[in-house]
Amino acid sequence: MSRAFIRQLAVTATAFGTASFAEGLCASWGEPAASLTERLLRVAWSVGLLALPCALLAAAIAWLLAVLCDEDSFADAWRLRPSRPALPLAVGALSLLTLAEYGVALWSRRFHNAELAAVLVALLTSAAVLVLTVVGAAVARWLRAGGSRRVVWAVSVMSFALALALLVSQSWAGLVQLDACLAAAPLVFVLTCFAADRWLLVRVAPVKIVLAAGAVALAAAASFWGSGARAATMLATHGAWGRPVIVALRSVSDFDRDGYSGLLGGGDCAPFDRRINPSAVEVPNDGLDNNCVGGDAGNAVEIRRPIWGASVHGSPTNQNVVIVTIETLRHDHASFVAAARDTTPNLRQIAASSLVFERMYSAAPYTRLSLASLFSSLAPSEIDWQLLAPEKHMRHISPRTPWLPELLAARGYETIAVLTNFAAFTPQEDIGFERGFRHYDVSTALTYRGGTMWGFPAAEQVDKALAYVERAKRPFFLWLHLFEPHFRYEQPPGAPVFGADQRARYDAEIWHVDAQLGRLFQGLRRLRAWDDTVLFVTGDHGEAFGEHDDRWHGTNLFDPQVRPAALLRVPGVAGKRLDVSVTFTDVAPTLARVLGDRETFDQLRGRSLAPLMHHRALPAAQSGFVVETFNIEDGLAYQAALVDYPLKLVYEEAGQRFALFDLAHDAREQQPLDPRSDPRASPLLRELVGYLERARPRVLGPR
Ligand SMILES: [Zn+2]
Repeated sequence: MSRAFIRQLAVTATAFGTASFAEGLCASWGEPAASLTERLLRVAWSVGLLALPCALLAAAIAWLLAVLCDEDSFADAWRLRPSRPALPLAVGALSLLTLAEYGVALWSRRFHNAELAAVLVALLTSAAVLVLTVVGAAVARWLRAGGSRRVVWAVSVMSFALALALLVSQSWAGLVQLDACLAAAPLVFVLTCFAADRWLLVRVAPVKIVLAAGAVALAAAASFWGSGARAATMLATHGAWGRPVIVALRSVSDFDRDGYSGLLGGGDCAPFDRRINPSAVEVPNDGLDNNCVGGDAGNAVEIRRPIWGASVHGSPTNQNVVIVTIETLRHDHASFVAAARDTTPNLRQIAASSLVFERMYSAAPYTRLSLASLFSSLAPSEIDWQLLAPEKHMRHISPRTPWLPELLAARGYETIAVLTNFAAFTPQEDIGFERGFRHYDVSTALTYRGGTMWGFPAAEQVDKALAYVERAKRPFFLWLHLFEPHFRYEQPPGAPVFGADQRARYDAEIWHVDAQLGRLFQGLRRLRAWDDTVLFVTGDHGEAFGEHDDRWHGTNLFDPQVRPAALLRVPGVAGKRLDVSVTFTDVAPTLARVLGDRETFDQLRGRSLAPLMHHRALPAAQSGFVVETFNIEDGLAYQAALVDYPLKLVYEEAGQRFALFDLAHDAREQQPLDPRSDPRASPLLRELVGYLERARPRVLGPR
């Protein structure tokens, strides 16, 4: 091995380590109020544990390169002194690398599997580095043989311009989220190559070895400290480069092969006993903490049942029911709740005679879970998710789960759903939303790919809905799910232009849906159904616009993702605004109560919100509720939050972390408190742990 090769190997390894360090650190730095210790630990993690596998990877690449190119030209390719022909190569390589990374990141979103996507991003980015270096070496050879430097410069500048133009236009069109941290990795890679080559770390190898060993030791020690696990979890959940490494290390340190490591925040409280892990079924009173949550379950909290109670609606009213769910309609972007722009003039008019829920929580931050809870009155983990054929991605809501449309159909309602051909609503995924619907219309085409939705299908849906209602006997039950405000945010024709940024276009899409709802309400009046129709309108969940370094939805239980706008109109009941915290599991029993339908009511869970028509609050014993999220496919990435305003206690299975937020003083959830040292949290902690003991085993494993 030549000196040039060893030197180049060291340079590449250093660059890889630094790039992954920078990206992981950058991506996890913005977590709310991480303590200085945690931040320092993350640095240690990044330097120590990430640099090592990266160096191995770099060694493999360097070896491959040495085989593919001759060693001198390989060295030239990454030797980035301005005086050498490699500078234009670096510019071109950086541009193409950034493009490749964005391309892969965008493409990998379709898998809806963060770990897989991260591994793909890391692998393919490394492959791109490899290809670019081989190309670079070839160009260097060509230059030495008398090739023109101008041509190389021209190609590099062109690729740089192309990369910039593509990224800017894609970002402008809302197709990619420009993530500075992701871009930082290749940038840091090239800069480190340059610096390492220039000031030559290779000459001080012994010092480096001591430093690296010290960092590894510090990182390893950190894994046994309280926040070391949290620091590792942050790196595992943020950043494309760091995640596969932590996941791989956890897999290696899963000594009892039960799927969970006892180190690095893997969550296994008995690393050598495969019967004990976070997905094990908790056996009450066996003296063991089978599922690693809060000890041995002796008296797990029972499922709550709604209380019928006194109400003006004592006997069956046979009113029609219309439920409108609107994609991602966030509470503070709907003017009937609170918004700077008048995005919902029609709903604002209805709101004057409706119960407006200022603090509605969707049961989950994404469609399939939250809508299943809305119609079943069960929290997502309480639903019986069946595993059907292995080729189905998603689980099926078993017929044992109570289902409002089916219950109302049994009471003589003509049930109508007017949806789109979104896969979750169709037999393609067979989740089971069609149960109980006499008319289940998914004929409206939706352009949806990889989490991005185009077009304006609402008008067609409203037309179809009115046609069904016109032919339907009374009473009828209608469900409309409208898609427009879902990313990507587009300016609908005819809608006011609120501005050019993402939020402005999102607002314009809300306005468009509201205009279509105006047509629906008008149509119901024309069909003489309006005065006998109970109407519930809500977002199916919220949407994040950069809060907690977060976009879109489906990833966490912070308020932006789980607080949709919502109202309930009951003919004859006076309108009012309610600041009490309520949730989707309350909706079905409330509707049954309003309809005076005891039979349906008794089969549901959740709480009846009917007392809010006459009082400002619910009975004290019914104040809290749980919202949760997990992957519908495999039950992983489990999170739950117990909301009991002003407190919100969040549990994250990754890292086994409880965090308490005081929403009255910290509405933006920036200051997580330690629930174990806050006396207000102890009843919540008891209740949530009791809930987890029941909930967690249900969402994992085939049935
Ligand atoms: Zn949704």
